[in-house]
Amino acid sequence: MFQRSYNRGNFHKKRFHGGGNRRSHRGFQHGGNIHSSKYIQKAVTPEIQQEHVIKNRFEDFPIHPQLLQNILTHGYQKPTPIQDRAIPVILTGQDVVGIANTGTGKTAAFLVPLLHKLILDRSEKVLVIVPTRELAVQIDDELRAFAKNISVSSLLCIGGASINNQIMSLRSNPLIIIGTPGRLKDLVNRHFLHLGQFKNIVLDEVDRMVDIGFIQDIRFIISHLPKERQSLFFSATVSPDVDSIIRSFVRNPITISVKIKETVGRVEQDIIKVNNKDEKLQKLIELLRTEEFKKVLIFGRTKWGVERLSKTLLSMGFVVGSIHGNKTQNQRLRVLSQFKNDQLKVLVATDVAARGLDIEDVSHVINFDEPSTYTDYVHRIGRTGRANKEGKALTFVI
Ligand code: AMP
Repeated sequence: MFQRSYNRGNFHKKRFHGGGNRRSHRGFQHGGNIHSSKYIQKAVTPEIQQEHVIKNRFEDFPIHPQLLQNILTHGYQKPTPIQDRAIPVILTGQDVVGIANTGTGKTAAFLVPLLHKLILDRSEKVLVIVPTRELAVQIDDELRAFAKNISVSSLLCIGGASINNQIMSLRSNPLIIIGTPGRLKDLVNRHFLHLGQFKNIVLDEVDRMVDIGFIQDIRFIISHLPKERQSLFFSATVSPDVDSIIRSFVRNPITISVKIKETVGRVEQDIIKVNNKDEKLQKLIELLRTEEFKKVLIFGRTKWGVERLSKTLLSMGFVVGSIHGNKTQNQRLRVLSQFKNDQLKVLVATDVAARGLDIEDVSHVINFDEPSTYTDYVHRIGRTGRANKEGKALTFVI
């Protein structure tokens, strides 16, 4: 992904370094498989950001006038490359495989044409399957903005929230369901959700679903879908497992690839060498007290570690929240919205909880614990430097 060569010496900044380095640093930590040199990278002006020339305006798409008005009122002036390419194809009813990551605008790429279909024909029910509860909520928020003055009902079927409430709401026959695989499977098994009714299916962030271990649940869901359907598939990467899902899911798809390099390109990356855990914590506190650390997302490896760190920071007077798998759905959503609205300065998170989140103006991502894979690293640091803003990512290395 990184095409530029780096020169470690140039990028080290004294103020980020811990005290005397007693042990020689060999670049690897915790038996980790990422060399620390990969965490160092100067921010660069993205090379040609969009090779794709945008051909359409939203006004050019044959979509319902109210839907068009809602998109424009929402502040979208012109389609992103994936929207430009996918919306016309989806409107013709074809299956799509989108190789795209978060930040490309893929949500609107599938919501806009599917909402249009629903306006024309209310039997065109939509099922959107996503890896995490937070992503489901994010998609639902965008859906609500696009669905103003259009009477379509949606329901979130996600884990961590009351299944009984979801069962009750399913009785009112929502036209759009956004759910996570485990909960959807549960509802199908209990005969409250009948997948045969859904003619439009979106599988979003499939690589992440596979990472989390949802592959069997996805296979189960696909096996219950009607044969006649429109299938839309999105993933940032295509591993053999992801490929096997594509094969069983779509039919004669159009493949659209718009992976963006720019999110990490504009993130200045550096490491902070420390000798032990105490020094790591001290250094973190020092950084958080620096003025430029305005809105900071910190990643930890385990739920317990994340919780412990957030409590420590809280006790030191920082305005901090945490998200991880042990938090209830409501807690996670509350903390997330506080961080989004700048009511929290620091958010401590695990990888799963933070994947795909779209939060504005994150000034720094700090890897308090190293990520386990380089893909996770790229996802983590992609939470900053968004929407043409600059960001910084720092990784602690012991
Ligand atoms: P997504 O990749 O769908 O998560 O979108 C990433 C971010 O881009 C979100 O904050 C969207 O609200 C925003 N976005 C998506 N499409 C557009 C557009 N056409 N114009 C401006 N912002 C957009």
